[in-house]
Formats: sequence, structure tokens, C-alpha cells
Amino acid sequence: MVDADMQQPVPSTSVAGHARARSAWVAIDDETQAHAIARALVLAGWEVGHVVHGCGAVHALARSVARLPDVLVTGLRFRDGDGDGLRLIRELGAFPDAPAVFLASRQQRAVIKAAQTLAEACGLRLAGAAEQPADVASIVAQLAGFHPGSGRVACRAAPPVLDRAAVHAIIEREEVFPWVQPKVRLDTLEVVGVEALMRGFDEAGNLVMPDHLIPALAAHGLLDDATLRVARQTAEFVATCLEEGMAISAAINVSMSSLARLEFCQRLAEAVERVAVDPSWITIEITETDAMSDVARVIENAARIRMLGFNLAIDDFGTAYSSLTQLVRIPFSELKIERAFVTNCGRDPVKRATMSACALLGRSLGLQVVAEGVETMEDLVGVRASGCTHFQGYLVSRPIPVGRALDWLRGLDELRAPL
Ligand code: C2E
Ligand code: CA
Repeated sequence: MVDADMQQPVPSTSVAGHARARSAWVAIDDETQAHAIARALVLAGWEVGHVVHGCGAVHALARSVARLPDVLVTGLRFRDGDGDGLRLIRELGAFPDAPAVFLASRQQRAVIKAAQTLAEACGLRLAGAAEQPADVASIVAQLAGFHPGSGRVACRAAPPVLDRAAVHAIIEREEVFPWVQPKVRLDTLEVVGVEALMRGFDEAGNLVMPDHLIPALAAHGLLDDATLRVARQTAEFVATCLEEGMAISAAINVSMSSLARLEFCQRLAEAVERVAVDPSWITIEITETDAMSDVARVIENAARIRMLGFNLAIDDFGTAYSSLTQLVRIPFSELKIERAFVTNCGRDPVKRATMSACALLGRSLGLQVVAEGVETMEDLVGVRASGCTHFQGYLVSRPIPVGRALDWLRGLDELRAPL
């Protein structure tokens, strides 16, 4: 079934159950293992087009064929010094119809992980990984669930651009609102606060999400107005909670460009004062990327926010490359760990180690440490083991309008912090 000539197409069997047989090439340095994998895939109904050896050979073949396979099963080292799997991944990234990559390598787990990261960075889809090319059964089993489609990671479509008139209309009709997501203490599982996330409604009544709304507001000079609207409504929400005896704080996302304006900070403080809420109930969240920009400007703005009595959180921690020196200079009260580290942290020891290090750093600096994006009980177990103090995520609730959030909080009883 598998051709002895390493560069020749392998006759394939046809497959029942698939409109088109899923196709693979195998590029593993050990010929016996390469053929064992190819044979097992063919038996499992795959069309194994080529068993190829070496980075240059795969690249040359890829340029000469009309259609690339759905999956390339590849090792990371090739014996003849003809490049390696890392170079191959990088070169495949240039093909618009690149195959998904399955890594079958004897290299250390950390190296395989780095190769996976490289594949993702090159826009390639990952079909799986095995730590031993000899583990043929695991390779076939993992590929059993593979559905052909583009081997490239689907790029998120760019959000439709909201033009100036559309953005102005949203602001003029006052159709900007905070939707809130609960924040929960890990030790007592009490809901102690919410994060306000901006939502808009366009003229047709469609919900406009932040990834469309925020860049458009910023581009048309309306982000300060919209943020202050969100801040006012969020402060009113906190005031209602406090009046009803519910000790619920709230966080507002603010861009550094807004914070840099003295007038914005004063209007923010006035919005909170107007509803008689002490600013210590409100946390201002700035993203790590913003926090790591111009040192002097960030420290000035951060110190001013704390002087006004607000708390300050560093958001999406782990996405930028924070200098620790800068991190400890900025008067943060809270550190929010980026969702990418939280997702699957229950089963990924590397993610959990990263989370534990972030949590230890945050707690040693006296900060609350919030894990963002907890979606499953398994994530929650990982988050708890890593030493975070609070969490948010779909496991508890998606962001919801403030009216619904009030009803939800009222029904919580003992799972809500008393005033
Ligand atoms: P963020 O501050 O990191 O907010 C968390 C995002 O993750 C929110 O998306 C939230 O809905 C989502 N999320 C929460 N829990 C989960 C989960 O368990 N799983 C998943 N998959 N997602 C979860 P959203 O509301 O679309 O906001 C996106 C970003 O837009 C925010 O990221 C924030 O950076 C920005 N943003 C939102 N509201 C405002 C605002 O009022 N002002 C400014 N400047 N930025 C805002
Ligand atoms: Ca946030």
C-alpha cells in the first residue's frame, strides 16, 4: 500500500462515510515509522499521497502539486541536515492552502509545544501531536476526529467599520450601556463585584460589541463620552446594590488615552460622586499593553486615579511583556490574568505554572488576583490550585444588562457578600 519510493504517490483506498477521502502526507525521518504511520492511516480510510523525507523535499513537492493534503504528519528533526520541522512549518505558512500540521516527534514536550506555538503563529491549523512517532495508534486515533477544511486558522473577519454618522447616532440616541459580568471570591464563592463591559445598539436595534464599537468610538473622538456614560450607569448600579444591602463593587475598562486627559478623570470622579458612591467601590481597568507604554505618563495617570480614591487593575495580564520593574512602580490594586492562560489550565501544567507564578507575584504585591474567562469546572479547579483570589467567566455568567443583573444578585442569598 505504501510506496517504497519516498517521493512517490501512494495508491490510496477509498473511504466510506466521507464525501472526499481525507488526505495526508507523512514526513518522518525514520522510514520504518513513516511507513507504519502511512499504512495505519490508509487502513483508517485516509488517502496518503506522499511519504516524504526532509524539509526541502516537502517544500519542493508542495510547490509542484495541484492540491496540498489536508494534514501533514511531520517530525521535527530530519537526518540529512536538510532543514528541520521548524523551518518546514515556517515555510508552509507561506502557502495559502497549507495543510494542518500533526507533530509526531521524540523531542521534549517543551520543544513540541514551541513548535505548536510556531505553527499557530504562522497561521497553521494544528491537527494534533504525539510524543513518539512510534505511537501509531495514538496518531490515528487523534486524526480520527479531524475534519478537513482549511489548514489555515480561520482569521477573524475584521469587524465592519461603523462610519462617523453611525457612531454619532449611537451616542446621540444614548444607546451605549454597561453589561455586567459577576466577579466571585474563590475562598467563599461569594459574588463581590461586577465588571462593566460596553455594549451599543445601532439604529436597527442590533447589539454592537466592543470589538466594533470601541475602535469606532476612538476613531471618531467619542470614546471619552461613551466611557463616562458607562461609568455613570455602572455607578448607579453600585449605588442601588449598596442601598439594598448588597456589597457589590464594579470595574470599568478605561483606555490610557482617556485617562491621560485630566478633564476625563475629573468627570469620572464627578459621575461617581453624583450618585454618592465612594470611589473605593470602583476599579479602573487598564490593559497591560497600555500600562507598559510611556512610563512617566502611565505612572502619572495611575497615581491620579488612586489619588481620586479609585482602585486600579492591570487587565489581560500576560499578553504584553511587562517589565517587572515597571509593574511594581505602578500603584495597582488588582491583577487580572488573561483568559488564554485560564482556558484549560486544569489540564495543562504549563498554563497552571504560568498562572501560579502570576498569582504569587500579584499576592506578594498585595493585589487581588482575578482569573478571567473561567468556563468549566475543570478551569475552576486549576484556577483554585494556582492561588488566584477571584475569578470571572461564563461558568458563573456571561455579561448581562444591569437590570437583569440586579434581579440575579437579589436571588443569590448566601452567595453574595453582605454589606
Ligand atoms: P476584557 O476587559 O478583557 O473583557 C473580557 C472579555 O471576555 C469580555 O468581552 C467578556 O465578555 C469576555 N468573557 C468573559 N468571560 C468569558 C469566558 O468565560 N469565556 C470567553 N470566551 N469570554 C469571556 P467583551 O465584552 O466583548 O469585551 C472585549 C474587550 O473590549 C474587553 O476585554 C475590553 O478590553 C474592551 N472593552 C469592553 N468594554 C469597554 C469599555 O467600556 N471601555 C473600553 N476602553 N474598553 C472596553
Ligand atoms: Ca477588563
